[in-house]
Amino acid sequence: MTYRNSCISALARMKKRPMASKEEDTGTNEEFEKNLKAREEREKGKLTRDKIERFVASEEELKRFGYLLEVPEGQGGDIPNEVGEKKRCDRCRKEFVVKDPNDFNQVSSEHSIH
Ligand SMILES: [Zn+2]
Repeated sequence: MTYRNSCISALARMKKRPMASKEEDTGTNEEFEKNLKAREEREKGKLTRDKIERFVASEEELKRFGYLLEVPEGQGGDIPNEVGEKKRCDRCRKEFVVKDPNDFNQVSSEHSIH
């Protein structure tokens, strides 16, 4: 290909490009194509309302999977923990009294962490 023909072909390709409106629209034809592809890929991965709508569960689905949709009946919150209660160790089956984790002066029971 002669230099003249090469210039004609390059100019013809440049004329096909849309008018540059931002920095990404500039550069050689190869750079422009690369930027355009990258922009298209970014657009594909962009989160839109339509794309995420199918991941939002309906109230019926939430109910079916046991999610709380209303405040349950009952007093609630009267016994926030079991400090001072007698419990049985799951490992050795010994009884022990639940200690207050914030009370460092508390005498430890016979059962210790194992
Ligand atoms: Zn134990």
